[in-house]
Order: sequence, then structure tokens, then C-alpha cells
Amino acid sequence: MNIAFLTLTPVIGVVGTALYSWQHGFHLWMPLLTLGMYLLVGISICAGYHRFFSHKSYEASRPVQLFFAFFGAMAAQNSILWWSAGHRVHHKYVDRDWDPYNIKRGFWWAHILWIFYKNPDVEFSNAKDLVANPVVMWQHRWHKAILILGGFGIPTLIGAAFGDPIAGLLWGGFLRLTIIHHTTFFVNSLAHTWGKPVFNAEVSARDNWGVALLTLGEGYHSFHHRFPADFRNGLLWYQWDPAKWFIRGLKATGLAKDLVATPPPQIEQARLTAALLLMEKQIASAPHHIADDVRRRFNEAAAHLEQAFALWRQHIDERAGELKQWRATRRQARSYVRQSRREWKLALRMLARVPAAA
Ligand SMILES: [Zn+2]
Ligand SMILES: [Zn+2]
Repeated sequence: MNIAFLTLTPVIGVVGTALYSWQHGFHLWMPLLTLGMYLLVGISICAGYHRFFSHKSYEASRPVQLFFAFFGAMAAQNSILWWSAGHRVHHKYVDRDWDPYNIKRGFWWAHILWIFYKNPDVEFSNAKDLVANPVVMWQHRWHKAILILGGFGIPTLIGAAFGDPIAGLLWGGFLRLTIIHHTTFFVNSLAHTWGKPVFNAEVSARDNWGVALLTLGEGYHSFHHRFPADFRNGLLWYQWDPAKWFIRGLKATGLAKDLVATPPPQIEQARLTAALLLMEKQIASAPHHIADDVRRRFNEAAAHLEQAFALWRQHIDERAGELKQWRATRRQARSYVRQSRREWKLALRMLARVPAAA
């Protein structure tokens, strides 16, 4: 069933849509229908299935959960319960045998082939919180009906309103589904292959803005694997992460709360550790006086971070105690984070100037 479905939907979605529109005419509402459905369903996977249900990186109100459950089912990626249980196993055992989309078994395995093999029976023992959620259990029961009636039925009806139900079905149903499938699959394949391991050099997850563009923000995957409970994947304000902006929007309208954001000193420590690990060999083979200097700068950077951690904790206490200076303390903590960054980046630049050993 999976092989037939995942082979036929792209053929109908791409070739079928192109041939039909060539013969029966093309109108602007068609790609707009694809885009609209893509955004509704895609955001339900990224901000819903992934960041809310799998990782609990924020608290979403009941109407928002229903929205995610309804549109997420139209992605044809099984139920929230099944998806999240598997995804939690991926995080726990990443790059190892139990990881369902283990990248060590090859790019195409991680992208799509894993779906074609029978998975070990999932007991949902790692998803007791989801089993206790009535929205999740309702969706687990009805996700196939929602997929057929909503994922294919709604675009057909919209197409009918424009006088061409088949075009609606092709553009908003099949083509949209093909795009959703493969952009989601890119997170398991491309985001574990292409890019930099900025926050964790020990696992295959990578940060890549190109993949982020393709996946509504899920391309900053090194950060995500290091800090899965964070509601953001793209950390910096300009990094493409529509799911993060969507969650912030939910908070602003009172529909979400308790957004988890990792403190900056902790993030910087992860970056420093990853950089050091990547450079270990180079440091060991550099001339002694340079290696010593590099190590000294890394230690200096670590000391700045200690200061940043202390100030960060202090600002939390001050804020809780409603003391006015908490903003100034936070600013100071951030300044120590920047000093730490400058120090270890300088060390890296010194290393880069060392000629490679003959
Ligand atoms: Zn991953
Ligand atoms: Zn995840």
C-alpha cells in the first residue's frame, strides 16, 4: 500500500497535473490553491505534529490542537500518535539501529525507503502523554477519513466552485501532497547530510538554510537535535523559520503559551563544544606554541561563558523578584556570550592560518 501510494501520488501529482492543465487550461487559482493547502498542511506538520505534539516545545490551546490534527492528517503521514512516537525514537537513537530513518543506512533509506519496510510494532510507550490527549486519540481514529474527505475532497470542492473539480483535485490534492511529502522527507535525508554540524558535531544532523527554505524552517537541524525542546529551529531573527513565526503569532493572540527558549549561554556552550571537537585533530597537529595559544583562547572563552551563565541565573532571580535591574543583567550576560564567541572564533582563525602538515 505504501509503495503504491508513494509511487502513484507523485506521478499523478506532477505528470497528471501538467498534462491535464495543458489540455484543459491553466488559471491562477490553481497554483494558489496548491500554495494555500501547502501552507495549512505544512504548518500543521512543522508547528503541530513536530514542535507541539512530538517535542512539547510550547503549550497550544484546544482549538489550535484541533487545527493541527485536522490539517496535519491531510499530509498523509499517518496519525499524530504514530508520527510522534516514531520521531521521539529518531531523536533518542539518532544514527543508530533503532533510529527509524537512520541516515547511516543511506540517503534514500532516510528519505523514503524506510516507509516501505515493516516497522517494529510501535507500542506508543514513549507517548503516554499523547495517548492521554483526546484530540490525539480522536485523530488517530479518523486520520484516514480526514485525509480522503479533507485532503482530496476540499480541493475538489474548491475546484468545482471555479468550474473545474478535477483541476482542484490535481493541484490542491495530488500536487500539493507530493510537495508536502518530499519536503518533509528532506528533513530526514538532506538535513542529516548537507550543511554544518554547528551545535553538535557528534550526530549527523546539520544546519542548512537551503533545507530550511524547502521545509518551513526545519532545516536548522543541528540546532534542533541539540535543543529539541526549543520552539525555534532557526535561532536568529532573520533565519527562515515560518513555524517559529507562526508559534510566536499564536502566543501574541493568546492561543499558545509557555514557549521554551534555550538560554543563550547554553547555546553558545554547545557551539563552542562542537567547534572544539571538529578542530581537535588540527589543534593536536599544530605547532606547540600555536596549539597552546588556541587552547588558551578556548579556555578564555569558557571562562567568559561561566560569567554569562552566572549572570543569566541572576537575571532570572531578579526578574522573579521584580527587581528593576534584570534587563541590565541580561544585557551583561549577552555581552559575555559575545566575548566568548569572539575569543573562540579568533582561535579558529589562528588555526586556519597554520599550514597543513606535509
Ligand atoms: Zn533528525
Ligand atoms: Zn524533532
